[in-house]
Amino acid sequence: MASLRHRVLLTAACAAVCLGAAAGQAAELPRVHVLATGGTIAGVQASATDYSYKSGAYDVGALLGAVPDLDKLAVIKGEQVANIGSQDMNDAIWLKLARRVNAVLEESGTDGVLITHGTDTLEETSYFLSLVIRSEKPVVMVGAMRPANALSADGPGNLYNGVAVAVDPRATGRGTLVVLNDTIHYARNVTKTDTTSVQTFQSLNRGPAGVVHAGRIEWFEPMDRKLGNAGEFSVGTLDDLPRVDVIYAHAGMSADLIDAAISNGAKGLVVAGVGDGNMTAPALEALAKAAKRGVVVVRSTRLAAGIVRRNSEVNDDEKGFVASGELNPAKSRVLLQLALTRTKDPVAVQKMFQEY
Ligand code: ASP
Repeated sequence: MASLRHRVLLTAACAAVCLGAAAGQAAELPRVHVLATGGTIAGVQASATDYSYKSGAYDVGALLGAVPDLDKLAVIKGEQVANIGSQDMNDAIWLKLARRVNAVLEESGTDGVLITHGTDTLEETSYFLSLVIRSEKPVVMVGAMRPANALSADGPGNLYNGVAVAVDPRATGRGTLVVLNDTIHYARNVTKTDTTSVQTFQSLNRGPAGVVHAGRIEWFEPMDRKLGNAGEFSVGTLDDLPRVDVIYAHAGMSADLIDAAISNGAKGLVVAGVGDGNMTAPALEALAKAAKRGVVVVRSTRLAAGIVRRNSEVNDDEKGFVASGELNPAKSRVLLQLALTRTKDPVAVQKMFQEY
């Protein structure tokens, strides 16, 4: 495999991959625990100008070693949790990752956590973590749109800025943050908007949490929603999460996929509705029937931005539905999975969609 430009610094005293500690800086520098999960940031392509590549190829040591001066920002410990393309992210890895983040943040020797992750499902994983992480310490997620050995790879810059955010005391209490392309986003608000461009991550309804350039940070709006440390969700005893399917609405939509989801065991359904969370009459009828039988139905939108409010063109009160508010279908699915670990009551679930 092609080697990355800077070499990782390994110390005998460090069981995992460590940076900074060897230079005797441990006393002054903050300590960041890096948990790597794969993605394009760890991806490899046959040559720097190739187009096709494989996600999750380099390990955490190679990624950290490719970032100049990271050891001047923090003492860094690296750990590999998974090494996958995030299109393969699943509930089991979410639970494992969340437990690991909670455990690492409980240690007095950790000031912040940085997670490397593929960009495809970064918005879901980050929102999941923001709902279940118990600590106020900074948790920052980074990815990259270009593989690690690509021309103008964006991973090292994102990693550097991610660590800078993870050691900024002002990042405390903001929940999980996503840092790419010099921009800091709240997990709840961020979405991937472009297949390949480096400015793909946007907080469309609200704007970003801040900006970071060469490690220099400006913060904008505070986070005003309930986060894991104040919330009711816990990964502590969970072996899995309830099945929630997302169904994409379109002209001529039938009830077939709704019925199939329910007969395959879905406990909740999120509809990526047309416009303001709308769908055809047959789909509405099937969903209303499902809601009567105890399946929790959330109306979201297939549009990139906007708010789905209760009782607009659909009478949610009458049908027993939940309106997603600002949450897109992917994030609605995450919240509904966690909500279903506490309740099946659509009124209680609606309250959660208003609070989180
Ligand atoms: N498919 C990749 C992933 O999500 C894309 C990326 O990381 O940019 O892992």
